[in-house]
Amino acid sequence: MSRTVAFIGLGHMGGPMAANLVKAGHRVRGHDLAPESLEAAAGAGVDPAASAGQAVTGADLVITMLPAGDHVLGLYGDILDVASPGTLFVDCSTIDVADARTAHERAVAAGMRALDAPVSGGVVGAEAATLTFMAGGGSDEFTEAEPLLAAMGRKVVHCGGAGAGQAAKICNNMILGVSMIAVSEAFVLGESLGLSHQALYDVASTASGQCWALSVNCPVPGPVPASPANHDYRPGFAASLMAKDLGLAANAVRSGGVHAELGLRAAELFVAYAEQVGATEDFSGIVRTIRNQNGEQA
Ligand code: NAD
Repeated sequence: MSRTVAFIGLGHMGGPMAANLVKAGHRVRGHDLAPESLEAAAGAGVDPAASAGQAVTGADLVITMLPAGDHVLGLYGDILDVASPGTLFVDCSTIDVADARTAHERAVAAGMRALDAPVSGGVVGAEAATLTFMAGGGSDEFTEAEPLLAAMGRKVVHCGGAGAGQAAKICNNMILGVSMIAVSEAFVLGESLGLSHQALYDVASTASGQCWALSVNCPVPGPVPASPANHDYRPGFAASLMAKDLGLAANAVRSGGVHAELGLRAAELFVAYAEQVGATEDFSGIVRTIRNQNGEQA
């Protein structure tokens, strides 16, 4: 069924996602504060709207793909009283779990319905419509949004109630951040013991050390030719985004009183790495910082 969708936030991720909705036969009215993003989306068949309110008026669904929770809550403040009663608001941005729950509450209080549906898969996945969506909200809302999310991705998982999509996203990325540091430290330890990268890879990738950070995004050049380490650490998944996601995980760890030492430490290390050299590098480049620190201590 063809729907009329308001799509707000047409950046690196939102632009290609909106274009995939157009390809799937939906009418998409897009808005972005950046004129160049709006223009690029218009080139892909999105109807450009001069304001978010204009995009939302008369839309069946509102999809947002914005930088952070403040942007989402600020925008909701502007448009919740413009949308038709009962409109489904689907936020695909990666934001704080607490902000996601607030967004749900505000949408419902304004007579709307809501789903949080952050993604994994990066810009490549957004362009190829191979994203994974992690959704939080009611079953009816999930059922309504699912065909649209499926047009932009390969896998759509209903994780639970309000905020559960954001919770799944930060828990997954906490595993990823911690495991990338563990794999990097193991390679640097192996170097100091005279162990070749290939030998450690051949053992660990088929033994109990196996994980995505090692076998797909291997942080040292050689063993996995497609990994960013072989391409001067071009992302991939930028370290600044990993730092952001681990910061969201750290917020949830602290506010929940959860004991998660490695998650908190990984957040510190990725924030420092992103602030110093790595903001635009793939997050696996943290292996070089770990190696350099090793050299400084020797
Ligand atoms: P981006 O900065 O490229 O795009 C965000 C867009 O939102 C910008 O074009 C900006 O102009 C627009 N915007 C901000 N406030 C607005 C407002 N009030 N009204 C209209 N437009 C507004 O960021 P991105 O890389 O597309 O990421 C978007 C979200 O997706 C983030 O939450 C990010 O964490 C998440 N994410 C990104 C990736 C990735 O690889 N880039 C992967 C997974 C998840």
